[in-house]
Amino acid sequence: MGKGQVLYTKAKTLIPGGTQLLSKRPEMFLPDFWPAYYSKAQGCKVWDLDGKEYIDMCFMGIGSNILGYANPDINNAVKQAVDNSSMCTLNAPEEVELAEVLTELHPWADMVRYTKSGGEAIAVAIRIARASRGKDIVLFCGYHGWSDWYLAANLSEDSALDGHLLKGLSPSGVPRGLTGTSNPFNYNNLAEFYELIEKFEGRIAAVIMEPLRNNFPEDDFLKKIRETTKHQDIILIFDEITSGFRLNCGGAHMVLGIEPDMAVFAKAISNGHAMAAIIGKKDIMNAAQGTFISSTNWTERLGLVAAIQTISKYKELNLDKHLNHVGKLVQDGWKKSAEYCNLKIEVSGINPLGHFEFCHNNRMELKTLFTQEMLKRGYLASNAFYASYSHTEEIISKYIKDVGEVFSFIKTAMDDEGVQNSLLGPVCHSGFQRLT
Ligand code: PMP
Repeated sequence: MGKGQVLYTKAKTLIPGGTQLLSKRPEMFLPDFWPAYYSKAQGCKVWDLDGKEYIDMCFMGIGSNILGYANPDINNAVKQAVDNSSMCTLNAPEEVELAEVLTELHPWADMVRYTKSGGEAIAVAIRIARASRGKDIVLFCGYHGWSDWYLAANLSEDSALDGHLLKGLSPSGVPRGLTGTSNPFNYNNLAEFYELIEKFEGRIAAVIMEPLRNNFPEDDFLKKIRETTKHQDIILIFDEITSGFRLNCGGAHMVLGIEPDMAVFAKAISNGHAMAAIIGKKDIMNAAQGTFISSTNWTERLGLVAAIQTISKYKELNLDKHLNHVGKLVQDGWKKSAEYCNLKIEVSGINPLGHFEFCHNNRMELKTLFTQEMLKRGYLASNAFYASYSHTEEIISKYIKDVGEVFSFIKTAMDDEGVQNSLLGPVCHSGFQRLT
């Protein structure tokens, strides 16, 4: 056992669930063998507690580090802000500067509020929307964080959130009184959406969704949602926490040509520093004054500085071009390697946020084996790749060569019915599972 796994065993006795983020649980990757903790990270290189070096070819700070880890430009700006104090009795002027940057990028939006993480920003957006319309019901599509308003969907029907990115999220601790307030529909399923619109007519405050994630909108899906919400005075909120700043400098909705009433950003806007922003139209955002939304650390300066620098660097580098280019190289590499080895995989996602699934019965075993064998070759790898500026063509081509080797190893193990025997530990988890 490496030092990381030893520490993680201790963590589980001190921290319920072991970590603060489901997606960072080692069980989600390679139970018993994932390095679990980092000592330092730079670009796309990561060093674990034993000093072993890896290339991060999966989640790059769970989607946060589009410029790579410890980017010198962002870090220098942040270090200067540390020296001038990250906190004060007075406000940080960067609050106004970042608001200007975000509203310039999204001319439909007039005003901005901040939080520090994505889920709380979404909770703020929902509160503002409900306050603005004086209505309770929310329709949603996709994953939007941990808060009560969202998990309430699982109060009505245990499986309501299945298919919404993370299956099996337990609503234990969410007040029963919220039953029926949040209602899910699936992406590209207009029939489900219209059914909910009819069922809750006159009671809906907001529709919240990612403008795109694994799929592009089909049959004018977003356009029709926009038309209906506009017609019925329902606030349309785009959750751009993961989709934003990948295809373009700003929300993906700008590329799709559909303007919401509010949008929420986090993760990529600040290259790994804690920051989130809610942007929206003036008449809606002003409802934030009629309800109480206020927190000390939302005024902290480092996230603001990091966001301003990250967006400026994004523009300077035309970062979207690089993210699309290397993301496509990886997706093409997965496809070609699988084809060559006669493995069936399905690749999905926009270029900068690629993903593949093994199309065989034992897909979780195969995914675990992939991670295990890639780890041996010095990669933090899973069945997803989030592109960053630090992923060069050279790194990608070496990675694709190694993927080819591992796919071929997997195929041989499958043919010999030896997948289980090749696994050194348990199969990885998917979705939410209690850790016992
Ligand atoms: N919405 C979406 C679309 C997300 O991808 C995430 C994070 N994976 C969240 C909300 C929650 O953000 P956070 O983890 O920062 O609370």
